[in-house]
This record gives sequence, C-alpha cells and structure tokens, in this order.
Amino acid sequence: MNSDYDNVRNGGMRFHDEEVERYRALLEYGVLDTAPEEAFDEISRLAAYICKTPIALITFVDEGREWFKSVTGLDTDVAEVPRDKSFGAYVINNQGDFLSISNPLEDDRTKRNPFLNRLKDINFIAGVPLTDDAGHKLGSLSVMGFTPKELSSEQISMLHSIARTVVLQLEKGRNAAEERERRHETGLRVAPASGDLQNNGSVKEKEREYLAPAPDSTVLKAEVGTGDLPAGADEEGPEAIRNEIRDRLGDLEVQNKKLLLLCEMDELLQASRTEEEVYTIIAHYSKLLFPGGSGGLFVFNDILTLLECVTSWGEIKSQREFLPDKCWALRLARVHISNSLSRELYCQHLDHSESVDYFCAPLVARGRALGLLYIEQGGVSGNEADTRARNTYDQHIAATAAKLSALSLANIQHHESLKNFAIYDSLTGLFNRRYMEETLKREISRVTRNKEPLGLIMIDIDHFKQFNDTYGHTAGDMLLKSIGDFFRDGIRREDIACRYGGEEFVLILPGSSLENTFRRAEQLHDEIKRVRVRHRGGFISSVQVSMGVVVFSEHGNSAELLLESADKALYKAKSLGRNRIVVA
Ligand code: GH3
Ligand code: MG
Ligand code: MG
Repeated sequence: MNSDYDNVRNGGMRFHDEEVERYRALLEYGVLDTAPEEAFDEISRLAAYICKTPIALITFVDEGREWFKSVTGLDTDVAEVPRDKSFGAYVINNQGDFLSISNPLEDDRTKRNPFLNRLKDINFIAGVPLTDDAGHKLGSLSVMGFTPKELSSEQISMLHSIARTVVLQLEKGRNAAEERERRHETGLRVAPASGDLQNNGSVKEKEREYLAPAPDSTVLKAEVGTGDLPAGADEEGPEAIRNEIRDRLGDLEVQNKKLLLLCEMDELLQASRTEEEVYTIIAHYSKLLFPGGSGGLFVFNDILTLLECVTSWGEIKSQREFLPDKCWALRLARVHISNSLSRELYCQHLDHSESVDYFCAPLVARGRALGLLYIEQGGVSGNEADTRARNTYDQHIAATAAKLSALSLANIQHHESLKNFAIYDSLTGLFNRRYMEETLKREISRVTRNKEPLGLIMIDIDHFKQFNDTYGHTAGDMLLKSIGDFFRDGIRREDIACRYGGEEFVLILPGSSLENTFRRAEQLHDEIKRVRVRHRGGFISSVQVSMGVVVFSEHGNSAELLLESADKALYKAKSLGRNRIVVA
C-alpha cells in the first residue's frame, strides 16, 4: 500500500485542524446531498466537451465519502463512493493541482474504486481540485474516458477555469442563502437558492416556480403570515427573487459562453502562423470576452526595454508605450486588478486623473515575459458581492487568455528563430546560399512578370587565405562579419545580400539595369576599402575584392545560368589581376 493511499485513508480518520476547516467550509456551502442542478450539469458537460472525454464529474469530498453532484455522459445510480477508495480524495490530497491516471483499474490508487469498477473499460481519469478563495479543496472536477489519453496544457488550464466556475457557483448559492436568511429576519419571503436546500429541485424548476406570475399580494401576506409588511415589500420580495434567478442564470450563461470563446480563441491561436495574426485574434476575442470595455495588447520591443501597444480596441487610458517597471502585473508576474473595491495600486502607465476599472494580465510563457493584456472594464455595476464574483471570474478569464496568447506568441517566435536559423548565415547574419538560390528564382519570376531587369554582383575577397595566415582565423572571421555589415548597410531594402561561400558574397538587385548594377558595384568596390577590423589594439584595413557583374536576362535566363555567368566574370577578374570588376 503506498503512502498516498495512507494519506487519504488517514485524512478520513484523523481530523487535523486543516481538515476540520475544510469540512466546515464545505458544509457552509450547503451543497452536500442536494438534488442535481442544471447549472452544475452544464459545467460538467463543458468540461467533457473541452477535454474531449465522454464522462465528466463534479464531486465533493466530506469526512467519509466522495459525493457526486453532477455526472455527465453516464446514467448511473452511484451517488457516492467511500473516501478511502475515491479518486476525488487523491485529487484534493495531491501536491500539485492536477492529477491524471492512465489505466485506473490497474492503479493502486483507483483500482478499488467501486464507481470506476463499474465502468469496465475505463482507461483514463484526470481531475483538478475545486479550491475556494480560502484555499480549501472542496472536491474535484474530473474527466474520464475509455481510450488512453493525455490532456494538453491548454485543456488542463481550461479545466482549472471550469473548476473556478464551479466554486463561483457554490459561492453564489451560499450568498443567496445568506441573503435569504437576512430577508427572513426582516420578514420577507425569499426564494430557495442553488444548493442551499435539500432536494429542492433544479435551477430550471426554481426558475419555473419563481418566474411564474407574481401571486396576489394578499395571498403572499397570508402565506408568510406577516400582516405588517412595509408598503411595497410584498411586491419587492418575489420581484427581487425573480431578478436574482434571472441574474444567476444569465451570469452562468455568460460564464459558459466565455469559456467556449476561450476554447475558440485557443483553436485559432494554435493555427496562427504570424505574430500579427495572434494580435488580431487576441483583439477580436478580448472584445467578446470583456464586452463594453476597451483594452490593448502590449509586447516588449526587440531590446526588451519598453512595452509597445501592438493592437487596441476602444479608447484606452493607458500610455501606448511604457517601461515594464510601471506595471504592477509585470512586476509581480500575476494579474493585477484595480477597481471600485481596490483602488490603492494604480499602475503608473495609466492616466491617474480618471478612475478606471481595469486588469493587467502579463503574457508569460516558458518563464519569459512577452507582454501584457490590458483590459478596461465597461458597464460594471451591481452590488459588492456580484462585482467581486464577476471580477474574480473575469480576472481568471483574463489570466487564461493571456496565458494562451503568450504560449502562441512564444511558439511563433520559436519557429521564427528556427526559420531564421535555416535562412541566415550565422557568422555574418546575411542570408545563406540556399535561401539566396530560392529567392533568386522567385525574384526572377517576379521581374519577368513585371518586365524588369535584375542585377547580380558576385564578390570574392582577394588573398583572403593570406589574410588568415597573417592575422589569424579569428581576425579573418571578424573581417567576414564586418564585410557582412558593410553589404547589409550599403544596399536598398529590396536588395538581397548573401554569403555565398567562405569569402564569397552575392548581391541581388531586383529592378536594376546593367548600368545601375555596374555603378553600384563600383561604389561598393571603392567603399569596401574602408572596412576595418580590430586587431591587437589597432586596426587592419584596406580589404580588396574582385567582382563579377551580370544582369538578367542578358547574361542568363535562369538562376543557375545567371550565377554561372557571374562566377565566370569573377574568375576573369581574378585572372586579370584581382581588385577589379568584370561584366560578363
Ligand atoms: P583569391 O584572391 O584567389 O580569392 O585568394 P584567396 O586566398 O582569397 O582564396 P582561396 O580560395 O585560396 O582561400 C579562401 C580562404 O578563405 C581559405 C579559407 O581558409 C578562408 N575561409 C573560408 N571560410 C572562412 C571563414 O569562415 N573564416 C575564415 N577566417 N576564413 C575562411
Ligand atoms: Mg574564394
Ligand atoms: Mg578569395
């Protein structure tokens, strides 16, 4: 028997302080042994949908059992399993916040679970704890299936978001129950709230019951037996209840919609190929996730000194460029929120003159900060508890959106660097030969279509071997690098410079006639003499090169033939004594 198992078993028998607190919190939510509720069923359905598993469960773990609040994808009469045989107990006792078991019927931790044993071919089970704001792990949200499976990091992250929705749903139920109690004290009739009454039917039933036409006020008075209600209170009671239920259902619908939007956004992010595509997707979905608000996406500049706004929607009160130190979210590496409930810590990249409710969610992937998702909330209203719940939820959504965006940006940047690795020469930073040959073919097709010329210069350093022999290979490398910089700086944006081989270079000048190409070659030939290399505290200068100049299509009507002609011209320049330009 392993130690994990002992932990679980002992956890059920030995009520240490933490467990007592946890259990007390669970009881306060008043969810245990309540009837199935549409709200929870919808959430478990969403979990199954996102993880692409046939079954999902929402369960709570009390002192002796794991009790099932919602089961999706299965018709079962099992409502609970003993705690010491349950999966939920392992999820809440697990050190990490995610537990996945393949082959649960062979695993020591789950093979005695009577519920799983009924599902003969069960092959996979995974779960996240349902953790409330106080940190109590109340139960688990789990998904399971009949084929071996591994959840992606995005699916796990979504599972955490969904678990958060379950806890918010519990909190709503508890708040409504408290409100009901308060109203009872003032003599008003109120509605039973989710999870706060035993076997009280689903939310839908309650909706039917309480959205029904308001009863006659005299009947109401008689029912509750309070003849002394304040004027209008008899109207306010059921109306308030109806509104509350409408709000609750509405909120839940919004929350589920937001989770689905996150899934949709993630799918698109995964399919995106450029940073610009990612920016567009983030802006589009942020508008849908935080409607009525405004915001922006900020990314670090190349030298990581500044955050720059790459896309925004609506009017934003943040500066569009700022130092990372000005943002609390980047300093703390977590979502920072400022609203009517907590205005103390305003980020310095905001205009202080106006109060604004906002989130800053840092974009962090692979331990590296890439940017910031900034959201200004619009149309926020309601009482403090509602604002708090909505904020917590939106904060979570913003953090998840930022995380998905960061992962996608990091992937694209990684691919870009791999691609760059494949097209650039590492010493000089110029394009490599393979890329040049591909590009030359493409450029030839383009100038052919546009009926334009294309110039090409092939360059070889004279007596480079001697240079190496005299000053050393490292100095030779430095010279090659300096010449690379010289070419890169000395050509137009549309020209292409590449390192063709050891000390040979090729310049492609699309649209350039023979005359222009020759003039450019002369200029470069003259200026290259000024390239200098540091050596032993001084400088080595006066590099000489030979050049072969050709033009498409006069000297070759394909990339291969053109390069061949350029090579021949270069060879001729060498044989005529070097340090010169020869036109093919
Ligand atoms: P020529 O004027 O006929 O072109 O003579 P050369 O010495 O420049 O030409 P050769 O082909 O005889 O020698 C080329 C030299 O370039 C030899 C090789 O060691 C050197 N070389 C090639 N690639 C590199 C490199 O990456 N770094 C350094 N330092 N030297 C290189
Ligand atoms: Mg050579
Ligand atoms: Mg040479």
